[in-house]
Amino acid sequence: MKVDYLLIGQGISGTWLSYFLQKENKSFLVIDDKNPNAPSRLAAGIINPVTGRRHVSTWMIDTLLPYVWEQYTTLGNELGITAISQRNVLDFFPSPQMRESFIKRVEEKGEYVSVPDDPNMFRPLFNYEFGCGEIKPVYTAHLETIIPAWRNKLATEGLLLEEKLKTDDLVVAKDHIRYKEIEAKKIIFCDGAACAANSWFELLPFAPNKGEALFVSIPGLPKDRIYKKGMLLVPMVQPDQWWLGSAYEWEFKDELPSAEFRKKGEQLLQQWLKLPYTIQDHIASIRPATLERRPFVGLHPVHHSIGILNGMGTKGCSLAPFFAAQLVRHLVYSEPIDPEGDVKRFTRILSRNIS
Ligand SMILES: Cc1cc2nc3c(=O)[nH]c(=O)nc-3n(C[C@H](O)[C@H](O)[C@H](O)COP(=O)(O)OP(=O)(O)OC[C@H]3O[C@@H](n4cnc5c(N)ncnc54)[C@H](O)[C@@H]3O)c2cc1C
Repeated sequence: MKVDYLLIGQGISGTWLSYFLQKENKSFLVIDDKNPNAPSRLAAGIINPVTGRRHVSTWMIDTLLPYVWEQYTTLGNELGITAISQRNVLDFFPSPQMRESFIKRVEEKGEYVSVPDDPNMFRPLFNYEFGCGEIKPVYTAHLETIIPAWRNKLATEGLLLEEKLKTDDLVVAKDHIRYKEIEAKKIIFCDGAACAANSWFELLPFAPNKGEALFVSIPGLPKDRIYKKGMLLVPMVQPDQWWLGSAYEWEFKDELPSAEFRKKGEQLLQQWLKLPYTIQDHIASIRPATLERRPFVGLHPVHHSIGILNGMGTKGCSLAPFFAAQLVRHLVYSEPIDPEGDVKRFTRILSRNIS
C-alpha cells in the first residue's frame, strides 16, 4: 500500500491533521492504538481566552478564538455532530486577593473579563464568600464526540489501522518511509506524550505534565456555564454528567489517578456545591507539554521524511486545528510555519541525533 502520509496518533492533533490533508486530496493512513488514557479522550476540551492569576490573554488567542469556532463548527456540520459550544466560565473567587486581581483586570478594561449583573444569583447552587466574575467567550470542543465520530469516518473510509506502531519496525529512507507493507512519502508523529521517547524527537524539550479529573453526576445543575473555584466544573454531553479538574503535576511517580487529587476534589465539592452529587469516575492522563509552552510542528531538520505535530500542552483544543492547518499548507504549498511553533527552532539539537 502506498500513501502520501502515514500519521501516528488520532488524538485531537491527528484528527485535525488528517482532516486538513483530506481537504487537500492527499492520501494518508492513520495508525492509532486507541489508548483509553490519552488526554484527547479524557480532557474537558475548554478553550479559555485568559490564563493565570492575573487573567491575562493566552498566546495568540485573538487569532485562535474565531479560527477554532469556525473550524470546529464546519467539522461538526460535516460529521453531523455538535463539535463546539460556547459556555462561559463563572469564576468564584477562592480568596479576597483573587477577587481584587480579577476586579483590577476588569477596571483595566482587560479583554474577556467582566462582573455578572447579579453576582448573588448563584447562591441556591453554590457556597461562595468572595463573589464571582465572568470570563467570556469560552468554548468547549466536545472531544468525547469529535474523536469517536472522526475515527468512525476514517475507519469507514479504510483510512485507519488500529494498532500500536513500534518505531523499530520503521525503515526510513531519504524520500520515503516503510512500515510493514505500507510505503509513505512522509510519516508524521501526532502521538502525544509517547513522542518524548521516540528516537527522532527525544531531544526536544518535552515536559510531560500529569492531569486528573473526577467525573461527577450532579442532577439539577444548569449546564449553560462552566463553573470555577480553583478547579473547573465542566458540563459533559451525558445527562447530569460533569467533569471536575484538573491538576498540573510536573513531577509524578506514575500515571495513575491519585488519592490526593480525589480528596482535594471531594473536599471542594463538599464545601462549594449545594446540590447532591455522586462521583462516578476518576481519571489521570499525561499532557504532551513542552518546557517553553509552545508546540513542535514541522519536518525533522535532518530526516525530511519524518514530521511532528505535538507539544500541545494544556491547549490542544485550540492549538491543534491551527497548527495542523499550518503544517498541511507547509507540506503541500511550502508555506512557512509560525516560527514559535516551527520545530526548526531546534535544528541544532535535532541534528545531534542523526542515527
Ligand atoms: C486532565 C486534562 C485536562 C485537559 N483539559 C484540556 C482543556 O480543557 N482544553 C485543552 O485545550 N486541552 C486540555 N488538555 C490538554 C489536551 O488534552 C492535549 O493538549 C491534547 O489532547 C493533546 O492531543 P494530541 O492529539 O497531541 O495527543 P494525545 O491526546 O496524546 O493523542 C495521541 C494519540 O496517539 C496514539 N498513540 C500514541 N503512540 C502510539 C503508537 N506508537 N502507535 C499508535 N498510536 C499511538 C494514542 O493512543 C492517542 O490516541 C487536558 C489534558 C488533561 C490531561
